[in-house]
Amino acid sequence: MLDDDAYDKILRAGRIASRVRKYAAEKVKPGIRVYDFCEDVERKIYDEGGKPAFPCNISINNVAAHYTPYIGDESVIPDKSVVKIDVGVHIDGYIADTAVTVSFDPKYDDLLLAVETALERAIEIIKPGIRVSKIGEVIERAIKSYGYRPIRNLSGHSIERYNLHSGVSIPNVRDMFNISKITSGHVYAIEPFGTNGVGYVVEGRNAYIYSLVKEKRVKDELGRIVLENIKKKYDGLPFAERWLRNVIPERNKLLEILKELVKSKILHAYPVLLEATGGVVAQFEHTVLVLKREVVVTTL
Ligand code: MN
Ligand code: MN
Repeated sequence: MLDDDAYDKILRAGRIASRVRKYAAEKVKPGIRVYDFCEDVERKIYDEGGKPAFPCNISINNVAAHYTPYIGDESVIPDKSVVKIDVGVHIDGYIADTAVTVSFDPKYDDLLLAVETALERAIEIIKPGIRVSKIGEVIERAIKSYGYRPIRNLSGHSIERYNLHSGVSIPNVRDMFNISKITSGHVYAIEPFGTNGVGYVVEGRNAYIYSLVKEKRVKDELGRIVLENIKKKYDGLPFAERWLRNVIPERNKLLEILKELVKSKILHAYPVLLEATGGVVAQFEHTVLVLKREVVVTTL
């Protein structure tokens, strides 16, 4: 159960994440470089007194999730794009996870409204004892009522200390086979995704985000250096290729090392996720702390 210290840190991480999300949503504009943008967002997290719980994700148009700039990424935010910004903050391992979508084309305003409404509905009904499938049903109904589709293979998740996806999923559709229930004293991220596409994502070819899954002995000396660095700095939480630029300055060498560490199942790579038919995707996310008699939205 939660002691006062944990409770306090969960709320503080949430307040910081909320401020950073709002800051990011104001700063994002067509024409700016995604690299500079994400570095700025992450700097803001530190300035506010937190640490990134994962790299700043900036996923544009049909990219649904898990895009973070890579070393040398010169891409800029396109005109008329739909931009999702996903921010993670932790204090001493207590995590807040929150996302917003900004549209630079009014054509997608009601897609955003559909997904934001779905998140509101989900927050209204979440409480101890409710089945996660019921939450998925409410999300699905809200998004479909606007004529869009929820993304059925992306979901919200329970969060524990230093563990971003700690086991329980909150689906974005009704899922009769998922018998999990929400329990009090726990933290959950609710994150509906909606699209004008077919409603599921596929893995792209590239991954720019990794996490440590298992410590093993590494023969290669540079591999060991990289691994030591990851262990020391990221506490098992996801990190960006970009964050290692000063450890191994040559990108190709770094990628080679990361590839080996993935192959030996020491690291997990998170491929960029793309809407299967190229549909435009919107996402909104809040972190909630479910207590016996109340639900606290930590990232409001
Ligand atoms: Mn998120
Ligand atoms: Mn999440």
